[in-house]
Amino acid sequence: MNNTHRTKVVNVLVIGTGAAGLRAAIAAHEAGCEVLVVGKRPRSDPHTVLAAGGINAVLGTVEPQDSWQQHFADTLQEGYFLAEPRAVELLVREAPAAVLELADWGCQFARTPDGKLDQRFFGAHKYRRTCYAGDYTGRAILETLLKRVNRLRIAIHEYQYVSRLLINDRQCYGVMAFDLHSGERTVYLADAVILAAGGHTRCWRRSSSRRDENTGDGMWLALQAGCELIDMELVQFHPTGMVAPETMAGTLVTEAVRGEGGRLYNSEGERFMERYDPERLELSTRDRIALANYTEISEGRGGPNGGVFRVQRSGPGA
Ligand SMILES: Cc1cc2nc3c(=O)[nH]c(=O)nc-3n(C[C@H](O)[C@H](O)[C@H](O)COP(=O)(O)OP(=O)(O)OC[C@H]3O[C@@H](n4cnc5c(N)ncnc54)[C@H](O)[C@@H]3O)c2cc1C
Repeated sequence: MNNTHRTKVVNVLVIGTGAAGLRAAIAAHEAGCEVLVVGKRPRSDPHTVLAAGGINAVLGTVEPQDSWQQHFADTLQEGYFLAEPRAVELLVREAPAAVLELADWGCQFARTPDGKLDQRFFGAHKYRRTCYAGDYTGRAILETLLKRVNRLRIAIHEYQYVSRLLINDRQCYGVMAFDLHSGERTVYLADAVILAAGGHTRCWRRSSSRRDENTGDGMWLALQAGCELIDMELVQFHPTGMVAPETMAGTLVTEAVRGEGGRLYNSEGERFMERYDPERLELSTRDRIALANYTEISEGRGGPNGGVFRVQRSGPGA
């Protein structure tokens, strides 16, 4: 067995080339640090590219009466007041600038006829505040960030699988990684390490995550290094996706389909959301729709493939 390794030293090491990792790398670079980003996949293909429907920010381009306070209220209320209010406040207050910055950097968001950023409805939002780029918003954002990273000449090492955080006296001073093609090992030493390695939702058999991503690597690395993980149960169950054929199982049917008038029916042809949330119907919160789907299936009104229902614009047979 080859026990040698090479060593690389940087100021800031970012683990993950998704939207979170790239944006963090840009911020660290702008603060004057030498930054290196590592990821286990090609830089053009982190899980972020699967995000479809859009990104929420109060711009008021379509509904000027919207406000960050309303976005804050919607988010807290629909999260059953479980969210950390300060974190929600930061998110909703900073989202408009973050989205406008992406647009400035060339992100191809959809525009209104008069050239403003368009905004569409997403469930549980009082106003239209979702910016989008067709149904490939994540890819559009990722490409924009990658261009920016290239322009700033921030280095990215692809196919590097980080297997351990290096810890001394409760301080992380680097990581151990190996190259997924050659097996070559690298010890990255850094003044600061940013963990942006994505989620853990592949632990469910049916999932809209790729089979080999969202495997919780970041959580595991942190846990192994002595961190405490919190709120692990707070995972979003997206209510619409494919169940058949098996090769497509888990493929997301974006919320935009419901936002643009798609309806849900059970096997009896009933638009069942009328019973669960008569006002908001298919634009209810994702958790309520997911629970409604689950109830319909477990009470025998599911589809022939064991899943849910037809999503269509104007009713069964249309
Ligand atoms: C089908 C789908 C649709 C979605 N639609 C939307 C939407 O419309 N709007 C919205 O806001 N959100 C949406 N989301 C959620 C959104 O995509 C994610 O929250 C976001 O992209 C996560 O970005 P990230 O940078 O944190 O993680 P990722 O994009 O998953 O990036 C993680 C990075 O970490 C790297 N990595 C992981 N483990 C290791 C390791 N051990 N060593 C080295 N590198 C590692 C990966 O290679 C990758 O580069 C959707 C998600 C899915 C699955």
